[in-house]
Amino acid sequence: MIAEVIIQSNVKNLNKTFDYKLPEEYEKNALELIGARVLVPFGRMKTLEEGYIVNIKEATEYEVKEIAKIAEKYLNIEKINLAKYISKRYFCNVSDCLKLMLPPGTTRKNVKDRVKDKSINFVTLKKDVLDIEEDIENGNVKSEKQIRTLKFIIENGDALVSDLEMFADSSRAVVNTLCKNGYLEYIEKKIERNPFEFKDIKRTKKLVLTEEQQKAYNIICDSMDDMLFSEFLIFGVTGSGKTEIYLQLIEKALKEGKSSILLVPEISLTPQTVDRFISRFGKEEIAVLHSKLSIGERYDEWNKINEGRAKIVIGARSAIFAPTKNLGLVIIDEEHDSSYKSEMTPRYDAKDVARYICKENNIPLVLGSATPDIDTYYKAKKEEIMLLELTKRANSSELPEVEVIDLREELAKGNKSMISTRLYTEIEKNLKNKKQTILYLNRRGFATFVMCRKCGYTVKCKNCDINLTYHSSQNKLKCHYCGYEEKILKICPECGSTQIRYFGTGTQKLEYEVKKLFPNSTTIRMDIDTVNKKNSHEQILEKFKNENIDILIGTQMVVKGHHFPNVTLVGVIAADGSLNIDDFRANEKTFQILTQVAGRAGRGEDKGRVIIQTYNPDNFSIECAKKQNYELFYNTEIAMRKQLKYPPFCDIIIIGFASKNEEEVYKIANKIHLYLKNRVLKENIGIILYKAIPSPIDKIKNKYRWRILIKCKFSDDIIKLINDTLEEFYKYKQKETRLTVDVNPHNMMSL
Ligand code: ADP
Ligand code: ZN
Ligand code: ZN
Repeated sequence: MIAEVIIQSNVKNLNKTFDYKLPEEYEKNALELIGARVLVPFGRMKTLEEGYIVNIKEATEYEVKEIAKIAEKYLNIEKINLAKYISKRYFCNVSDCLKLMLPPGTTRKNVKDRVKDKSINFVTLKKDVLDIEEDIENGNVKSEKQIRTLKFIIENGDALVSDLEMFADSSRAVVNTLCKNGYLEYIEKKIERNPFEFKDIKRTKKLVLTEEQQKAYNIICDSMDDMLFSEFLIFGVTGSGKTEIYLQLIEKALKEGKSSILLVPEISLTPQTVDRFISRFGKEEIAVLHSKLSIGERYDEWNKINEGRAKIVIGARSAIFAPTKNLGLVIIDEEHDSSYKSEMTPRYDAKDVARYICKENNIPLVLGSATPDIDTYYKAKKEEIMLLELTKRANSSELPEVEVIDLREELAKGNKSMISTRLYTEIEKNLKNKKQTILYLNRRGFATFVMCRKCGYTVKCKNCDINLTYHSSQNKLKCHYCGYEEKILKICPECGSTQIRYFGTGTQKLEYEVKKLFPNSTTIRMDIDTVNKKNSHEQILEKFKNENIDILIGTQMVVKGHHFPNVTLVGVIAADGSLNIDDFRANEKTFQILTQVAGRAGRGEDKGRVIIQTYNPDNFSIECAKKQNYELFYNTEIAMRKQLKYPPFCDIIIIGFASKNEEEVYKIANKIHLYLKNRVLKENIGIILYKAIPSPIDKIKNKYRWRILIKCKFSDDIIKLINDTLEEFYKYKQKETRLTVDVNPHNMMSL
């Protein structure tokens, strides 16, 4: 008998099956070997290669070698089909997809070493920010590179040397000099290994559902009973009781002996979230899958699921691949969150994978959000997804009051600090009343955008309506979609002011200002840096809550689903941070973030207040966030998407090229573009093809990056076109250039 084997490799040429003879002693139960891991002789290699049996057949036309060793079996035909689906949809190797489904750690050669190696060297400031700025001004730091490096860390916080190389055009030598001169130092950051210390948790009983909850629950239950695939969107404001519905649906599945998968965004997978499930179902039934667990811990959790001991899986994106038995339900909470889209090969979208799995299993897929993804809501409007609305907060606490402060006016009044007079007064009031405040800094990525501080003017692309991004290496502003570029500005074309700023502000700086303004207040900072350095995310939040710290300062991390009854004020320092990213989802992300951050205020008895500071008070995403009106936001946004032809009215495919050889990458990107153009013209394929241009981050780790953007309707024709393009690419026999395809990226800067 012959086994078809897929070799474990990310080499594109090996993305096919190879025939091997099955050792005779295995022939009896051959079909059961589908999914088994094997070692096989391959080509002229001296060592055996790892692979997976994906099919068994009687005969082959080739002369074949025999499988050397048959090892464990973790996969089955379902998983193999899923891997094939992802491979086809996202243009990656089947073996890369199979890896997602294996027990954690099995594909790593030296698991032990990697687990041990858990601390990383970061570079941090050794001197006070103001002292450093003064030194720069006084010419004590002279080298451009040193200044850039210091400024980058001031703006963005602690960084890896590789970050500094990538974003600040710095080097280890520059960092070492700055260390020697007392400006910087290396610190070790420990990466949390055991964030889930399960304490004794009181059991809770299920709540009596409100009328709206009950209705949603009943409809989904019916669908579970019918054993048909359908997709639901539970659309309800924060606190409207979505989680309670999830809990009761999972309970129903459990009673019927079925498993459930609940996906939550990476960042909100805190013990607080998990505790709610443990308190309802007990520890034994639940497995948690999370990238912060050590490999050993993840391996244990995986086995708990694989052996059928745990029927409830809670996890981030990759938990969708958990080896559940008798799956009855998949729920994706905060379905709009961009962490569901992978930015590493395989670049899959967990929502899409969930849909495939639910269809295969004839079970419902439940999405939940207070601010649904535009694409999801569009589908709901078209009745491809069933919309279930929760319009009221379950515990009838009131939604907070939202106020918008125009920072242009603040500046006109001479207030150059990050905190407006209005916000200052409110913080002061809160300090007096012993209430807590959250200050949220809306900062995404490292891209720098340019804005007039006086009138809020930003430079946009004439063709794409996307903010241009500052490229320091060429001192130019560029559009990352079509390649349009402009010289940098010194004077605002709108108001003539010279107050042009290159934006990207840091939490460290904010904390410093707060301390200066309120010397007697206690503050705690939460961002990527502090979370890795001293405490975990959870410890910081516990500390904030238990020690009644006055002010929590943070980035995105403070946004997600925590419950702080004593927080009555939320201040958004500059809402523009996500508005001005060069992404067509900029408005959507801004609206989502502002709505969520506003949801942190007034979760207790007292009504909450939210103050949003912005240079763009008239922007509709800010206006709609102020009114907390999703529907209004959706209507405006969808009209714009339609007009400019962005998703959901098309799919976006980015073909990315990266190479150490600048000339080669440029040539190949253009050759591929020409190939595509010819195909499109000849065959009259209905896509919009943009020319090859440098990527938003056009050099990473000494690799030059180019890309081609395509707008299309994803179909078998497009799949064929892209696959043909890949084949064309592999014909070039170039040495350096790598090609990556991303389908509907959530982060437009990823390639
Ligand atoms: P969401 O997931 O939409 O943010 P939750 O399920 O967390 O909402 O509910 C918010 C709060 O309301 C929680 O404290 C929860 O215990 C409470 N709650 C939810 N449903 C009910 C209900 N039917 N009766 C009373 N309280 C409820
Ligand atoms: Zn453009
Ligand atoms: Zn201006």
